[in-house]
Amino acid sequence: RKRIAHQHALSPAKTLDNHQVEVAANLGNVKDAADVVAQGAEAVGLLRTELVFMAHSQIPDIATQIADYEQVFDALDGRPLVVRTLDIGGDKPLPYLPMPSEDNPFLGVRGVRLTLQYPNLLKDQLTALVRAAKGRDVRIMFPMIGRFEEWQAAKAILDDVLANEPHENVQVGMMIEVPSAAVMAHAFAADVDFFSVGTNDLTQYVLAIDRGHPVLSKDADGLHPSVLNLIHQTVQAAHAHGKWVGVCGELAADEKAVPILLGLGVDELSMSAASIALTKAQIRELDFTECQALAERALRCRTAKEVRALAG
Ligand code: PEP
Ligand code: MG
Repeated sequence: RKRIAHQHALSPAKTLDNHQVEVAANLGNVKDAADVVAQGAEAVGLLRTELVFMAHSQIPDIATQIADYEQVFDALDGRPLVVRTLDIGGDKPLPYLPMPSEDNPFLGVRGVRLTLQYPNLLKDQLTALVRAAKGRDVRIMFPMIGRFEEWQAAKAILDDVLANEPHENVQVGMMIEVPSAAVMAHAFAADVDFFSVGTNDLTQYVLAIDRGHPVLSKDADGLHPSVLNLIHQTVQAAHAHGKWVGVCGELAADEKAVPILLGLGVDELSMSAASIALTKAQIRELDFTECQALAERALRCRTAKEVRALAG
């Protein structure tokens, strides 16, 4: 019985009317890569490399990083790896990278804003990724892109690496987690290979509620219609340009959110490995046409509570 459930977790997730969504794992530790595949991950949809860095007591050099990333590629055995460049700052300090204290760290030097201040750090990481990939399916994305100039600057550093490193199969994308990026998705969509929506930060920034606030964070609900409308806009923009969209924030594994995200046209859901089997089982009971109707109604709700009520 266990074996049947296990095999079921390994097969793809298709709705009753045959709409397939990729179900991927979020990963923060290279040692767990084989385990997430065993739990049914069809890809790694978010490798949080800041957590990979935190396992070292100093900045890992290129060779050390290559060894880390190779472990993940090997475990994935041809499945895609969506890897996010260092996302330090905000609530995630890196002990060996001293940063000036800020009054508002979530609005400060974090994610790509930080790595653009340390271009060699970013360049080394990108070099290690391309070398570790050795032609395997790597999809690199930048966190906390808010302005087009940031995308251009990060992309220029990657282009520089790609000009010097033999490679094939490198997709380049960005997180959608700053509201300006979602609003401007139509402009980014022409330039990227994919988007991955970080609903944790997107929700925090759209609603102006600190995601870790002891009193307010319960109202930072990713099913708020403001967030859903931004996801909708992002998917529409991406698909108009033939690009794919994933969701890698907590919302991706929220059972009330799954039908709505499918209905909005999201192509991939990435979540902690423990949620994969359940989410796949849920998707197999859904009807995609009904999900689309549900999503349309959700977009017109006024509150997150109304959306949750709709979702049954
Ligand atoms: C997010 O913001 O939703 C996300 C996936 O990134 P993190 O939680 O690592 O900030
Ligand atoms: Mg984030």
